[in-house]
Amino acid sequence: MAVLTPTVTLDQEINPWEAQSARFEFAARKLNLDEGLWKVLSSPSREVIVHFPVTMDDGRIEMFTGYRVQHSQARGPAKGGIRYSPDCTLDEVRALASWMTWKCAVVNIPFGGAKGGVICDPHKMSKGELERMTRRYTAEIIEFIGPEKDVPAPDVNTNEQTMAWIMDTYSMHMRQTVTSVVTGKPLTLGGSRGRTEATGRGVMVACDESLRYLKIPIDGCRVIIQGFGNVGSNAARLMMEHGYKIIGIAEKDGGLFNPNGIDVHQLVEYKYRNNTLLGFRGAEAMPSDELILSECDILIPAAMENVITSRNADKLRCRILVEGANGPTTAVADEILADKRIFVVPDILANSGGVTASYFEWVQDRQGYFWKEAIINEQLETILRDSFDDVVRYAEAHNVNNRIAAYMLAIDRVAHTIKQRGLYA
Ligand code: GLU
Repeated sequence: MAVLTPTVTLDQEINPWEAQSARFEFAARKLNLDEGLWKVLSSPSREVIVHFPVTMDDGRIEMFTGYRVQHSQARGPAKGGIRYSPDCTLDEVRALASWMTWKCAVVNIPFGGAKGGVICDPHKMSKGELERMTRRYTAEIIEFIGPEKDVPAPDVNTNEQTMAWIMDTYSMHMRQTVTSVVTGKPLTLGGSRGRTEATGRGVMVACDESLRYLKIPIDGCRVIIQGFGNVGSNAARLMMEHGYKIIGIAEKDGGLFNPNGIDVHQLVEYKYRNNTLLGFRGAEAMPSDELILSECDILIPAAMENVITSRNADKLRCRILVEGANGPTTAVADEILADKRIFVVPDILANSGGVTASYFEWVQDRQGYFWKEAIINEQLETILRDSFDDVVRYAEAHNVNNRIAAYMLAIDRVAHTIKQRGLYA
């Protein structure tokens, strides 16, 4: 099943917008999508680019570039994270915004899709510099965000502190506290119980459901996780507690391997103290690119895009691939994985636990009533299990892989809403 022609260059292959478009087009063709709706859905509805100054700690003025792309607001306010990274590009933010549209539609929550990004190296900035940059970026995009318009959240290199600054800046402009303008806030500022570990919990549910579907027992199931940030570390911890054996953790600066299982609690503490995994005594060091090709039952890329490409897909030795990150697999690699009969849980399903808990946070803020953690986890798990079921049944019924099934399901839902709403003219 050719999603992308084999003639694409590596540059095209790893361009996230091309990766998104290849899957969108394939799924839209399969759906026989109306030509007009195809046009509507294949480009973002709004792209905001801002260039703004920030005073650095030494008194210098530095200019930064930020993006906020809204792909769709058809099903509700746009929703999606903000990332800080030196490599952030408009094409990346575009792709991530459209993935948010498809993700929210797959889990059937009433949001469209958006994403933001600022080109910066947060690891080289002080807390004060990050705060001033965040506040100014918020002020620059302020007319485009809001609880009913577009609701940001954390993503790569942003966290609950970043969300608190955005919430405060927005509230100062509105002259009243507006907690529901962002999700992923601290608990004391209108955050939700369970939000921080929600993406990792969702990844675990995707693993549980895959094993159930493939009739493989959880106990002792060998897992390798690439990335030990919010998603990877929470998935690793919850999964270890649930009976999985976490045999490998791959990070940017090196990996760890232990065939008998890594003690994730100890590793979390070690990373907190040392800010690296290197030197941890409970496992052997192994280069990360080698580690992700080691034999395991489940491989979970949980960091950035383009980890599995035409260069390494044929060397993977996992049975199941669960995408905790957004866009970790290129469209060319999809075909190789299909040939190898690897069972893939695509990003727009596998990492949807985060935005689903964000939906609960937004609802709680607007209600002014906060739910118990058990209720949140239970509702999260129900939504994710049902969505997993929807996707695998759709794949069976239409004879497509899980990724294309998830896209088809999502595109169909968004297209249906646009048709019902009609065009404003
Ligand atoms: N950044 C997360 C994602 O990519 C969460 C988005 C949200 O909660 O709005 O799904």
